[in-house]
Amino acid sequence: MMKMPVVFVGHGSPMNAIEDNNYTRGWRKMAERIPKPKVILSVSAHWYTNGTRIMNEENPRTVYDMYGFPKELYEITYNTPGSPEIAKMAKTLISKETKYDNSWGIDHGTWSVLVHMYPDRDIPVFQISIDAYAPPVVHYKIGKELNALREQGVLLFGTGNIVHNLRLVDWHQENKGFDWAYEFDEYIYKSIMNGNNENVLNYNDLGKIAKLAVPTPDHFYPLLYILGATEKGDTVSVYNKSCELGSLTMTSYLWE
Ligand code: ZN
Repeated sequence: MMKMPVVFVGHGSPMNAIEDNNYTRGWRKMAERIPKPKVILSVSAHWYTNGTRIMNEENPRTVYDMYGFPKELYEITYNTPGSPEIAKMAKTLISKETKYDNSWGIDHGTWSVLVHMYPDRDIPVFQISIDAYAPPVVHYKIGKELNALREQGVLLFGTGNIVHNLRLVDWHQENKGFDWAYEFDEYIYKSIMNGNNENVLNYNDLGKIAKLAVPTPDHFYPLLYILGATEKGDTVSVYNKSCELGSLTMTSYLWE
């Protein structure tokens, strides 16, 4: 079997789930470009826990982990099967202590994008959580260990945002970002294009700009899992390289 690509998407506003815009078209293009996965393993910014958890349910539920949005969003279901079999494999591959946990489901970080990439809902999906207390290198290492799943037809799918500061969102800045948002996104972009994963792991070296771009690391860490799962021979393509509402970037990467 050929090796599956790995993907990081910037998901942005949950409204993307019901919109047709440049971002959602970018996600569709990514899906059209790559082989159809057998299973999708999602690392979502929105499952941020104490310790690492893996869901191994036959039928994970759709989780509506966002507040104050139109009713239409709460009527979306992404009711694919899970994959207890691949979940078990993932648990075995990860050297860090992990626990099965089915208290969560498929959250909006995952479904708001997958409704566009795989609208047929015919690919099993499960998630692993992000340990809020683990440093960057630990997330990266889990990604490295999960690399083996690429040979099993599994799409490793990270969903967050490289720049994500909700406190500083400016609703007047549609398709625009603050200078520091562009600067941080560009730093990560250049590091990725140069294969300099160390720079990405050491993003805090940027000081003040990093603090503005990544005030909490939940939306940034999914990138580290995906980066960990990349290989020297992969080629990178970039989608949706853009700022939104001042303090979000939508930049997405595909390695194949
Ligand atoms: Zn989010």
